[in-house]
Amino acid sequence: PCPISSQLIIFLMIISIYSTVCTSYALLSQWNTVLSPDILRTDPEAIRTASKDYGNLVHETPSAVLYPSSISDIINLIKISNNCSTPFRVAARGRGHSVRGQAMTRGGVVVDMASLSSRIKVSWDPLLGYYADVGGEQMWIDVLRATLEHGLAPISWTDYLYLSVGGTLSNAGISGQSFLHGPQISNVLQLDVITGKGDFLTCTEDMNSELFFAVLGGLGQFGIITRARIVLHKAPSRAKWVRLLYSDFSMFTRDQEHLISPSMINGPDYVEGSLITDHSPPNNWRSSFYSSSHQSKIHSLLQKNQGLLYSIELVKYYHDKNADSIVQEVEMLVKDLNFIPGFIFKKDVSLLDFLNRVGIIRSDNNKKCSSEELGQVDAHPWLNLFVPKSRIMDFNAGVFVNMILGQNRTSGPILFYPLNRQKWDGRMSAVIPDEDIFYTLGLLHSSRNTPTESDVLDKLNAEIIEFCEKSGIKIKQYLPHYDSKEDWMKHYGPKWDTFQERKTKFDPRMILSPGHGICTSVM
Ligand code: FAD
Repeated sequence: PCPISSQLIIFLMIISIYSTVCTSYALLSQWNTVLSPDILRTDPEAIRTASKDYGNLVHETPSAVLYPSSISDIINLIKISNNCSTPFRVAARGRGHSVRGQAMTRGGVVVDMASLSSRIKVSWDPLLGYYADVGGEQMWIDVLRATLEHGLAPISWTDYLYLSVGGTLSNAGISGQSFLHGPQISNVLQLDVITGKGDFLTCTEDMNSELFFAVLGGLGQFGIITRARIVLHKAPSRAKWVRLLYSDFSMFTRDQEHLISPSMINGPDYVEGSLITDHSPPNNWRSSFYSSSHQSKIHSLLQKNQGLLYSIELVKYYHDKNADSIVQEVEMLVKDLNFIPGFIFKKDVSLLDFLNRVGIIRSDNNKKCSSEELGQVDAHPWLNLFVPKSRIMDFNAGVFVNMILGQNRTSGPILFYPLNRQKWDGRMSAVIPDEDIFYTLGLLHSSRNTPTESDVLDKLNAEIIEFCEKSGIKIKQYLPHYDSKEDWMKHYGPKWDTFQERKTKFDPRMILSPGHGICTSVM
């Protein structure tokens, strides 16, 4: 079904002569002479870009970067690797917003997905309802803009929209809508995938279902997503956006859990939460919400509360025709909540402005255009965890109060909000704690890119994980990063055998996505 470029046909003919004897290095050395430099580049600029990511902590140098002009280019690349006696590794790179080199490969080939440019197609089906077929390389902001033209929009998001569809579906894709609609991986109807064997397969819950569930949350280990069919709903036009401040952690979490409760009638459409400290101020690069007078009011409150406050962020969407009733609906929502009196802040914005609230961060050097904060710092040793609800009080005391506040080592936003396990499908590769409600923690650290500064934050990350281990808090990492196979086995727990079976089936020579370090030896 996919047109093969003439350059690749010539290339494949030559490769077929070599294929029985080639090694990856010999193969790679042929490429420059056979392929147009537009498709397979080895120049310093291409290599430099593919050796970096948003984290700016890991740098791995590939041998080449493939800029595919069609899906066949990727299929052919993977087939060529499979034909080698020692295959070379292949890493799909969406937008390079990983923080630990997950989209990199040392000595292999990075596939720059962004050079594919498929169309976004919106359709309707009596059984499926509205959906959009989008390329794995597409950014969510473009999916939003294209679907809004039809008065429609996806229902589950990430906070930041300049991430690729394939990149977030390889993890989970979470935000304040996930408690209600599940993560982005729970809102996919169909996928086109190129497996590690170079097979191009369409999969759904019922067709090639093992591949479908493997790839969703699969960290790119089983295949490269080239198309996803995403669930759409009628797009509301506007959002009532509210922030509430708390000094008491148990009130803060009790109210969050009340707001995400499945029994809630006419509840919010979005619920998140965050910490406010001197190093994690109310306005930050993720969102500038407060006026300067609100900021000074919050600052005074912060000083009175030992430098730590908690904030719930909730949103209620509405259609223009409901503009009259929405104010009362929001009042009903917050009426019984236990925030500090007077510390409720409201905004009314368009849906696009709300979803696109985290402005663009330039992908070339990963600095946000408009933010002074990000302009001065450029390493991001983030830690993202899922924390079981049963232990959040211990987590608050040990991590937030003792380590974060007490030791003053953080910088950057700190997110903390609950999710409902029932919205996740256990057949998918994503790993979550074994409790009905769990919290997501996002420690979105920034530091100057000096080993000393990022080491301090990495040390803090390690201490948090160690504290949880010693206290028996059964956390799971989101956007996981481990150095040893043993840690990966522990991460997957009972899913490890399934992970291995799927890897053997779909990527038996362990070609794909080596940056995670899960499968360390090439077969
Ligand atoms: P990359 O970093 O390019 O790749 C990530 C992984 O996916 C790699 O293993 C890669 O090989 C694989 N991959 C990439 N494309 C494909 C494909 N088409 N098929 C198969 N595998 C593929 N996450 C959330 O859930 N919620 C958030 O709100 C959120 N906000 C973020 C904000 C910022 C500023 C940043 C930097 C990250 C954020 N993330 C968030 C994390 C983000 O979802 C992941 O880092 C995601 O992988 C980034 O997508 P990407 O396109 O940059 O992927």
